[in-house]
Amino acid sequence: MKSHAETVVIGGGVVGCSVIYHLTKLGMRDVVLIERSELTSGSTWHAAGGFHTLNADTNMAALQGYTIRLYRELEEITGQSCSLHHVGGITLAETPERLDFLKSARAMHRHMGLDTELIGPEEIRRLSPITNTDGVLGALYDPLDGHLDPSGTTHAYARAAQMQGAEIVLRNRVLETNPRQDGGWEVVTEQGTIVAERLVNAAGLWAREVGAMAGVYLPLHPMEHQYFATDDIAEVVDHGEELPHVMDPAGESYLRQEGRGLVIGFYEQNCIPWAVDGTRWDFGHELLDENLDRIGDSMEFAFKRYPVLAEAGIKTIINGPFTFAPDGNPLVGPVPGLRNYWSACAVMAGFSQGGGVGLTLAEWMIDGEPSRDVFAMDVARFGDYCTPSYTRLKVRENYQRRFSVSYPNEELPAARPLDTTPAYGLWKAQNAVFGDMYGMEHVNYFAPAGEEPYEIPSFRRSNAFPTVAAEVRAVREAVGINEVHNFGKYEVAGPAARDFLDTVMAGRIPAVGRLSLNPMLSPKGRIIGDFTVAQVSEDRFQVTASFGAQAYHMRWFEQRLPDAGVSLQNLSKERIGFQIAGPRAQELLQRVTRADVSTVAMPFLSVREIDVGQCRAIVQRVSYTGDRGYEIYVPWHHQVALYEVLTAVGQDLGLRPFGMRAMMSLRLDKSFGSWMREFKPDYTPLETGLDRFVAYDKDAEFIGKAAALAEREQGVSRKLCTFEVAARDADAVAWEPIWHGGEVVGYVTSGGYSHHARKSIAYGFLPLGLIEEGREVEIEILGERIPARLYSKPLFDPDNSYLRG
Ligand SMILES: Cc1cc2nc3c(=O)[nH]c(=O)nc-3n(C[C@H](O)[C@H](O)[C@H](O)COP(=O)(O)OP(=O)(O)OC[C@H]3O[C@@H](n4cnc5c(N)ncnc54)[C@H](O)[C@@H]3O)c2cc1C
Repeated sequence: MKSHAETVVIGGGVVGCSVIYHLTKLGMRDVVLIERSELTSGSTWHAAGGFHTLNADTNMAALQGYTIRLYRELEEITGQSCSLHHVGGITLAETPERLDFLKSARAMHRHMGLDTELIGPEEIRRLSPITNTDGVLGALYDPLDGHLDPSGTTHAYARAAQMQGAEIVLRNRVLETNPRQDGGWEVVTEQGTIVAERLVNAAGLWAREVGAMAGVYLPLHPMEHQYFATDDIAEVVDHGEELPHVMDPAGESYLRQEGRGLVIGFYEQNCIPWAVDGTRWDFGHELLDENLDRIGDSMEFAFKRYPVLAEAGIKTIINGPFTFAPDGNPLVGPVPGLRNYWSACAVMAGFSQGGGVGLTLAEWMIDGEPSRDVFAMDVARFGDYCTPSYTRLKVRENYQRRFSVSYPNEELPAARPLDTTPAYGLWKAQNAVFGDMYGMEHVNYFAPAGEEPYEIPSFRRSNAFPTVAAEVRAVREAVGINEVHNFGKYEVAGPAARDFLDTVMAGRIPAVGRLSLNPMLSPKGRIIGDFTVAQVSEDRFQVTASFGAQAYHMRWFEQRLPDAGVSLQNLSKERIGFQIAGPRAQELLQRVTRADVSTVAMPFLSVREIDVGQCRAIVQRVSYTGDRGYEIYVPWHHQVALYEVLTAVGQDLGLRPFGMRAMMSLRLDKSFGSWMREFKPDYTPLETGLDRFVAYDKDAEFIGKAAALAEREQGVSRKLCTFEVAARDADAVAWEPIWHGGEVVGYVTSGGYSHHARKSIAYGFLPLGLIEEGREVEIEILGERIPARLYSKPLFDPDNSYLRG
């Protein structure tokens, strides 16, 4: 083994091999992969080898499509067969809700260029005569589904990488990884030490242990998983051509043909986390004890769905472990808090996702950023709230829900509550229905007294609808109160704070007492944050953005922090409080402070540090509700005091608490976009209208300036628009196709119901040539094309005159 390499990858499973293939493909030559045993010695060797494109995140689905299309290329380059079987796949629907789910998946696929199709029971039987379709309403057919040989495929990646210069060292366990002063890593192995400029953890089943060598906890956990293969089955042989895969969510099973028999695997409710306290180093090419009792109910169901199974002999039973992150997507990218340390872990579907993970990581390492938004698999989408126990509970929930319908308004219950604010008990006493983000509870809405605080998951308007309407009314007609805890909050201070912010933010940095809305751009000019920057006092700024992007934003800031002159603190959990919003908000605030908060003394977009009641607070005059409002930030231990101060004098003004559902409705009245819907790394300022906040002419060479200027010069081909939709009982959520002239011309980024305007609203992209006031289009919601009309003036206070008044 050599003593130095540009990049060392730990782990020779399908993911590590894909990483070295893509690194070398993109031009990096000095790459070494170190494997403890032989290639495929973790989860990879006993995988069932199935692959599919379906994923709730469109970019993840696109990367899965990329992975599947890559296999032919690998075969051609190396001559190594992957034993590809492109047989197509069918996902059954037994309930109307599942059918709705498949319809929305189908709609999403239209603008992704995926050729899926909804089929009926007769077609299901034609494609897969061994499937009993009793009770089946329909199915989604995906021609790209198939299976391959896991070992052949891993070796094909490895060989292709070696042909491009990568070195693979086998039977050599990595024992230690020690950070060096120069930012590199000293990798101590059984065969000696190698210095790496960059390190990739692709250690699969041992990723936790390898992460711990660098002092980090990666939130993933292995689960046991069983499938079995049958002896030959006459009906399978007689069918002549290879049967398609069948996913049966009702039976929590997947089935495919293997040779002259079948393979069937289960995601059972009674599932078992494996190696809770760590994966032993001597675990190798071995299987776990089979446990057919655990899948007894699932097997019984399967015998009804596939009657041929009941008579078939079982040839082999595989019970093996593989790893998941809390939401089931991989953990990829630079690990927050470490220098030059990259994660390629928690890949639960290595043969659907491995290629996309390798490509993403290689682009990120070589080009500085991936070519698309990959937040759904970014290791920084989780934070230090993920304890091992939290992760285990969430992973178990995710495994159990592998085949569940995911509703847009659904809140998952496992491991909750975790983080709460002092106000949690106050809200609970008022019958709040909670959601969570980044481990923190927030109120979605307040259920009427006497009603169970539970929002029924649905693709259509839910039981929360009338209550949310009343909360919206309270804001627009009187004054509403809700928490500001679920913003990420950072304090940036020191003599160089302004210069630092001027470089990382694309907008103007405000003067003392003022705040500004500020996009943050990547070097390629794509949106990586939409911030509010407030200069609270000389050399001291409060910077706020999405709570869920804390690790993501801190990683970006820390990588760019100068050696001296700036202190940066993440105060997201420490600095909390409330926003009050509505026509009577100013009156309410004035009742509890001696400071003058009139519009003259405290205009729109100003910030003051004042006493509110007995609490010292940072007060920003701004509100995402689009109404006259104030965000009042206090230390966490003053939150209850602040609440009591405000509510004690607010009753006669009509003060009423409201939740996130109302907030997301209120924003629609102003055509406000939101993080990870309208504003994300797939989009640019000019496409989304954020260009009005970009200070193209400021002196600072802000990150992304050259790209933003070039974009302004060249123009864009599409823009974000707002539509009024003639929806009846289901509003647009995201990714619905937009039709015009019989063609899909764009897609929805988000939508919902404006209770104030009593209209269904959607935001989405259209090509420039089609954008004009009143343009009639159709938006496909749950399989139905609904008429929609483009409009450009916000529904509420279109010229901001009320807001500024
Ligand atoms: C029963 C079963 C069925 C499955 N079916 C499918 C399927 O149909 N389709 C699908 O896509 N996926 C399937 N999977 C999941 C799939 O196996 C995984 O997604 C995939 O194997 C993950 O690959 P990996 O490279 O991340 O990890 P691993 O395969 O675990 O590889 C990690 C490698 O790192 C090495 N390593 C660890 N620590 C060190 C160290 N300190 N030094 C050196 N080397 C080290 C290990 O020896 C190992 O070879 C299945 C899994 C199981 C268990």
